[in-house]
Amino acid sequence: MTKAYDYDLFVIGAGSGGVRAARVSAAHGARVAIAEEYRMGGTCVIRGCVPKKLLVYGAHFAEDLQDARRFGWRVKSCRFDWPTLRDNVLAEVERLEGIYTDILDRNEVEIFQQRAVITGPNEITLADGSKLTAATILVATGARPAVPDVPGAEHGVTSNEMFHLDAVPKRAVIAGGGYIANEFAGILHEFACEVTIVNRGDRILRHYDEQIRDRLLQISLTKGINFKFNAPFEKIVKRKDGSLRIHLAGSSPIDADLLLWAVGRSPNTEGLGLEKVGVKLGKNRAILVDDDNQSSVPSIYAIGDVTDRVQLTPVAIREGQAFADTMYGNKPTRVDYTNIPSAVFSHPPIASVGLSEGQARDKLGTYKTYVSDFRPMKNVLAGRNERSLYKLIVDEETEKVVGIHMIGPDAPEILQVAAIAVKAGLTKSQFDETVALHPTMSEELVLMR
Ligand code: NDP
Repeated sequence: MTKAYDYDLFVIGAGSGGVRAARVSAAHGARVAIAEEYRMGGTCVIRGCVPKKLLVYGAHFAEDLQDARRFGWRVKSCRFDWPTLRDNVLAEVERLEGIYTDILDRNEVEIFQQRAVITGPNEITLADGSKLTAATILVATGARPAVPDVPGAEHGVTSNEMFHLDAVPKRAVIAGGGYIANEFAGILHEFACEVTIVNRGDRILRHYDEQIRDRLLQISLTKGINFKFNAPFEKIVKRKDGSLRIHLAGSSPIDADLLLWAVGRSPNTEGLGLEKVGVKLGKNRAILVDDDNQSSVPSIYAIGDVTDRVQLTPVAIREGQAFADTMYGNKPTRVDYTNIPSAVFSHPPIASVGLSEGQARDKLGTYKTYVSDFRPMKNVLAGRNERSLYKLIVDEETEKVVGIHMIGPDAPEILQVAAIAVKAGLTKSQFDETVALHPTMSEELVLMR
C-alpha cells in the first residue's frame, strides 16, 4: 500500500455497502476514510428497510387486535396514535445511526460528514473545499426515489418523507406496483387510510411468480385496497383545501390527501464528477463495473445501488465485503448473484427464491410445480378468510428444487431457511424425506405431493 496518497481507500457514501467496505478494508490494514453528506447508515437504516419494517409491525397490530377477540381476549376499542409510532421508529433509527458511526470509529475509519466529489482519478474534493487523495476511490452513493416528469409531480412525496408524516392521510394514492407501493399500501391501509394503487401497466410486482402476485392482488382487493391499472398520470393539481386532484389518462381523476411516488429508484451519480474523470455510466445512469466492482477508471470502484445490479441491502453488503477482501484481505472474492432470496413486506408478505414458474418455462426443458393453497390455522380460528400459497418449482431432469415462492404470514422468515436448500441444490425427494414439524405453516414445504 502506498503512502503517496492521503488514504489507501476513500469511500463515498456511508450506507450498508460503503460502511461494510470501509470497516472491513480498515480491519485488513488499509488507511480508510469515508464521506457521507446525510446520515450514517444510508437508505436501509435511515429511510428504508429498517423503519419500514417497524411500520409493518406497527400496522399488523390492527389485524392482531381484531383477531385477538376470537382467541378470547376482551379488547376494548383501541385507538392508533401515529405520532407515537413515528417518533419511536425515528428514535430507533437514531440509535442505529450511532451504532454505524461507532463501528467506523472502532475500526479507525476517518469520517467526513460532508459531500465529496471526485476531481481526479485519485482526488476527492470535500464540500468545505479541502482536497484529499486516495489510491482507490469506492463510490457507494446508493440510489434515490425516481419522480416522473409529470406536471405537479412536486405535490407528491417519496418513501423518504413517509417516515416523517405529521398524520396518516385519510386518502392516499400510490404510484407504481412494485415493492414500495405494495408495502406502503399495506401499512397505510391498516392505519385506516383509503389507499389506491395506480400502475402504468397491468400487473403488480412484475418479477414475482404470477400465482403469488395474483394472490396478493386478490387479498389486497378483499381488504379494501383499490387498484387502477394501465393508468398513466397526466397531472397533479393541488387544491385550495390542500388536497390533491390526480388526473389519469383514460379514467376519472382521483382526489387524495397524499400521493406517494414509488416508481423505482435512480442511481445517485449526479454531480459526483464521475463523467469528468472518465467513469462510464450505463442505463439509468448507473456506474458500469466489472465482476470485481472496478469501473472504467482503474482507481475507481463502485458497489451497491449506484451500480443498479440488484438493488437490495444484503447484496450491497456482500459487494462491500468482496471488494474489501479482494483489495486488502488477500482473498479474491466475487459475489454470487444466483438464487438471491427476496421479500415484499406487504400484508401478508411475499417471499421468493430462484426461478418463478414463468422463468422455469423459459429456461428449463421440463419442470414440475407443487402448490399448497391453505388457510393457516390461526386465520381459521380468527375467522379470517385469507389463504396462503406456497409453491415449489422442480427441474424434472435433475429433480432439484429450483424455486420457492410463498405468500402468507411470516413467509420471509420461513423462506430465508428454505433458500439454503435451493442454494445447496437439494432435490424434491430430499425435501420429502424431511419429517414435518407439526403444526406449523412451514411444514407445507415438505408435504407437497
Ligand atoms: P420497483 O422497481 O419495485 O417497482 C417500480 C414500479 O413502478 C413498477 O410497478 C413499475 O412498473 C412502475 N414504474 C416504473 N417507472 C414508472 C414510471 N415512469 N411511471 C409510472 N410507473 C412506473 O420500485 P420501488 O420504487 O417499489 O422500489 C425500488 C427498489 O427498492 C426495488 O426495486 C427494490 O430493489 C428496492 N426495495 C426493496 C424492498 C424489499 O426488499 N422488501 C422494499 C423496498 C424497496 P412496471 O412493472 O411496468 O415496470
